Amino acid sequence: MELDGKTAVVTGASRGIGRVTAIYLARAGASVMINYSANRAAAQEVKEKIMSEGGRAEIFQANVADYSQCEALLESAIDHFKRIDILINNAGITRDNILARMKKDQWQEVIDTNLTGVYNCCRAVLRPLLKQKSGGRIINVASVAGIYGNTGQANYAAAKGGVIAFTKTLAKELGSRNIAVNAVAPGFIETEMTEQLSEQVKEKVQDRIALRRLGKPEDVAEVILFLASSSGYVTGQVIAVDGCLAM
Ligand code: NAP
Repeated sequence: MELDGKTAVVTGASRGIGRVTAIYLARAGASVMINYSANRAAAQEVKEKIMSEGGRAEIFQANVADYSQCEALLESAIDHFKRIDILINNAGITRDNILARMKKDQWQEVIDTNLTGVYNCCRAVLRPLLKQKSGGRIINVASVAGIYGNTGQANYAAAKGGVIAFTKTLAKELGSRNIAVNAVAPGFIETEMTEQLSEQVKEKVQDRIALRRLGKPEDVAEVILFLASSSGYVTGQVIAVDGCLAM
């Protein structure tokens, strides 16, 4: 299989896009470290599913907003699987509010998790990746909100826009080491992150999507799998996975 012998770390892999990504990477042959923040039972379910299909997986609790916890996550992946090749920065949260009502902690929590979390994991993975000298793949999960903005999401759009700029910069810095760094920018994907939105809002969004359906975690995971298993010549790119919502 294309990812045989490789190790992948997927942050926020207990649910949603991260869960399906972890399963797809394992099906392609990778050993997968499933990171979660609070939901141990859900992470354990993902591990068991992967193992029931003959794959290799472990779980590790870490808050990506905390640098030392990210270091521990990467160290645990290397302890278990002896190497690290692929990092998927997927963990993310929303704390939506229009700016006039947005509290400082709503701003800070989203920046800390969605932007600083990506810095933390990338910083922590660099030393082992460079030491191995066998290249690598980093895929950051951004959002179309980080390209076009979205009312009620100044914190989220700023963080995701930051992730996009960070991705392009890291691709330039790491290209000579055969480490490809890309971002995917999902549109509206049906996960727990979006399930609290009203049916009315969902219908409105659906009307704006050329494909006339909301996205599924599988739609995003297959693009992440492509980037993780590619030759690496695609780097510094942002691939929208939005059914033509944003355009
Ligand atoms: P989700 O279903 O809410 O799942 C979020 C995942 O992130 C969970 O596994 C959660 O772990 C984990 N997580 C949250 N905070 C964390 C932290 N501080 N440290 C480590 N893990 C943490 O979300 P999703 O919809 O799959 O979203 C995944 C990514 O796609 C996010 O970056 C999101 O911004 C992005 N995205 C989503 C959409 C969409 O429409 N759904 C659109 C654009 C972009 P626990 O289970 O332990 O809480």
